Amino acid sequence: MRTRSRSARFVATALGFLCALSLALAPGLSAQSEEVVVVRAGALFDGTGETLRQNVTLVIRDGRIAEVGEDVQAPAGAREVDLSGWTVLPGLIDMHTHITSDPSDGFRGGFLSQYPGAAALVGAKNARITLLAGFTAVRNAGASEFADIALRNAVNDGLVPGPRIFTAGKGLGISGGHCDSGGFRPDAFPETGVEQGIFNSPDEARAAVRYQIKYGSDLIKTCATAGVLSVGTEIGPAQVTPAEFEALVETATMLNRRVMAHAHGIEGIRNAVHAGVASIDHGAVLDDEILAEMSRRGTYLVPTMMAFEYVYEAAQAGTLAPWSAIKAREITPIARESHRRAIRSGVPIAFGTDAGVFPHGTNADEFRLLVEAGMSPARALRSATRDAADLLGQLDAFGTLEVGKYADLVAVRGNPLEDVGILMDVGFVMKGGRIYKENGAPTAHAW
Ligand SMILES: [Zn+2]
Repeated sequence: MRTRSRSARFVATALGFLCALSLALAPGLSAQSEEVVVVRAGALFDGTGETLRQNVTLVIRDGRIAEVGEDVQAPAGAREVDLSGWTVLPGLIDMHTHITSDPSDGFRGGFLSQYPGAAALVGAKNARITLLAGFTAVRNAGASEFADIALRNAVNDGLVPGPRIFTAGKGLGISGGHCDSGGFRPDAFPETGVEQGIFNSPDEARAAVRYQIKYGSDLIKTCATAGVLSVGTEIGPAQVTPAEFEALVETATMLNRRVMAHAHGIEGIRNAVHAGVASIDHGAVLDDEILAEMSRRGTYLVPTMMAFEYVYEAAQAGTLAPWSAIKAREITPIARESHRRAIRSGVPIAFGTDAGVFPHGTNADEFRLLVEAGMSPARALRSATRDAADLLGQLDAFGTLEVGKYADLVAVRGNPLEDVGILMDVGFVMKGGRIYKENGAPTAHAW
């Protein structure tokens, strides 16, 4: 039905929908400012409701919000930041990135020729771009060589500017599945196993989870089905058995890690949801029954609408391999309808893009797609702030602008509840009380 050329495999591996590789560790809690800062917000979307508050003052001490309100007095000697002409909102959160990858042809070739360490350097570039686009936290859905772990630690240590990174390490999946690196002659590489994230039994699933956590992953990512960009796979069938899924989720849960599942076909989605994953990512095929079950369990959907539109456009433009273009044309209209259905259903939705499949820094375009699919602008904003933090298990640390939380905030000109498109032009970025972008320009903290 489709060829398995090497270039096709490279494209599949590189462009993702794969979310195959990821590593991550703990929250980015470093690099807080010790300065007292007062922010005067002309308007404030604090993430707790669906409306804007006017003329709100925030006092920030030791990187956290100490006071927030309409009648707050500025402490003597505090640095004042005048955002009276701006709308301030919580730092944005992207729940599905591949921050150590770029979607270029260079990446495709890089699968074989890229030197060890290069992915972390690519990640450092993308971390800065992502932060300056207004994203102060990301959940990373797969990386090679533990490059994401190294990057997360470097950001936490203040070596490079970037969002708080919560990362999965290597994505886990079955032999020959979406999280594997297939499409090559059998003697081209050593056969993959647990250390490469590949399992073929419940016991191996447990071992694979423990291996990633041993080396620092903050969460577990698995591939419940194939993807548009994986070679030689059908997108529909389930890849992980219910028994494997249960072992995987149980082991992760014991070790206090949540599981994200790349999933397109309905059977794989069902296996993942019933095993107790925290989120279904992509979710191309969704019916009312599974949406009701997800709502009942509190399972989040992370739609990654940008990824579908990107591969669809690439298919139309003739820049995808033919075997992949067939899948992209077939699945994207189905996914659009599923996501509209999901938004109508009220299932929990967290904002995620699959950045890395397309260029990093454009993540906020997902807001436009969510609103076009029927989501209110306020709910879209909450999906990228409060609800994303909830899915991360970090709502006590950030996601809303309330006393005690990290001062992770951004500002835009205009009213994002009237036009979410302005989120593509974030002019102010603060993370942990430290200002990385002001008046549209990077500060010294952002190099
Ligand atoms: Zn992905």
